[in-house]
Amino acid sequence: MKENHTVIILAGSNLGNRWENIQDAIELVSMISRIESKSSLYETEAWGNENQQSFLNQALIIQSEFEAEALLNELLLIENKLGRVRNRKWEPRVIDLDILFFDDEIIQTSNLTVPHPEIQNRKFVLEPLCELIPGFIHPVLKKSVLQLRTDCNDKLEVRKLNAL
Ligand code: ATP
Ligand code: CA
Ligand code: CA
Repeated sequence: MKENHTVIILAGSNLGNRWENIQDAIELVSMISRIESKSSLYETEAWGNENQQSFLNQALIIQSEFEAEALLNELLLIENKLGRVRNRKWEPRVIDLDILFFDDEIIQTSNLTVPHPEIQNRKFVLEPLCELIPGFIHPVLKKSVLQLRTDCNDKLEVRKLNAL
């Protein structure tokens, strides 16, 4: 049997029916790996670009038989399937699937950086992470997710949504 990896993924959408896009993405992720748990949905104003819909984000813990690079490719395929088009940085997107953590591995290749390099700078990442794995120690920064949230200066308001 192949080894299972515990992976944290952040799904995000700020284009079209954002809630449906995230549900569709989770459905497709569940076809390639077991979904162990899901955070609540969080809403955040768009950053890096004005005049966009706000973002919906949801973090997932999955058990994956894929190694990190292969998993990234699967996630990019899912993004494409749901109609993601890449043009400009920070433009509105139907779906974004980022790998936040992959076990406690540190990976740096031309197309993959794990842990995701922006975790500590983004409250919309740290809030759902704190809900799922508050005590997890970031393997590079050597601080818990809870501590990273305390230290984070991101001023954007992140709102936890109740059951939709
Ligand atoms: P950000 O990474 O700052 O959140 P983004 O999600 O908008 O920006 P994308 O255009 O979705 O960026 O991704 C560009 C590339 O980032 C992907 O094609 C992928 O190769 C690379 N990448 C590097 N590390 C990761 C990671 N941990 N998770 C997902 N993609 C990653
Ligand atoms: Ca992203
Ligand atoms: Ca991405």
